[in-house]
Amino acid sequence: KEFGEISIKDLDQLARSSFPLCMRHLFDKLREDHHLKHGGRMQLGLFLKYVFRRLFTFLLSLTLCVSLYAKGVGLRMEDALAFWKAEFSHKVGAERFDKEYAYSIRHNYGKEGKRTDYTPYSCQKIISSTPGVGDHHGCPYRHFSEENLRAALGRMGVGSRAMEDVVDKVRNRHYQLACTLTFEAVHSSSCDAGINHPNQYFSDSHKILQP
Ligand code: SF4
Repeated sequence: KEFGEISIKDLDQLARSSFPLCMRHLFDKLREDHHLKHGGRMQLGLFLKYVFRRLFTFLLSLTLCVSLYAKGVGLRMEDALAFWKAEFSHKVGAERFDKEYAYSIRHNYGKEGKRTDYTPYSCQKIISSTPGVGDHHGCPYRHFSEENLRAALGRMGVGSRAMEDVVDKVRNRHYQLACTLTFEAVHSSSCDAGINHPNQYFSDSHKILQP
């Protein structure tokens, strides 16, 4: 295994410990329903990719540009195909997966079509998406009902006091701040830079849990 690479067998544990709520929700739904619609496949699939990418954080007060390195979670294309196939086969069968779904996974990795090596979505992009009925992509802080959000936060281990703070941020439409407070509550650690990318959430979590 190369640096930054992960295997399929690590995924369940990583989802529980280090995925932000948006990705954890998609991951759980995929495991449960053995299916995700297009928006969910794109959002989760790109998040899981093995890529290194650069995030730029502009500190406006200092007009200073700081480069932070973040990466996709670290699943290689062959593993991604095996992972999605194992899930989808329960629902649509292996043959239909190969015919209808494998192409878009290879496409995400730049192996089909225009051969663009697509990068994972940022929080801003996810928050501004508009999931329809039956979709599970999007940002739970923006798109869940308060009741569902509270239940999901409880499953992540967010205590009642922190939960009120998170819900308060959501009511004021500060979704990324709500996510940052969740990060701090479940890691018992501060996140001064704030959360601006799901892969940043993942790599910051990984650094704390497996320094
Ligand atoms: Fe995901 Fe970003 Fe929303 Fe957090 S704020 S749940 S990382 S989209």
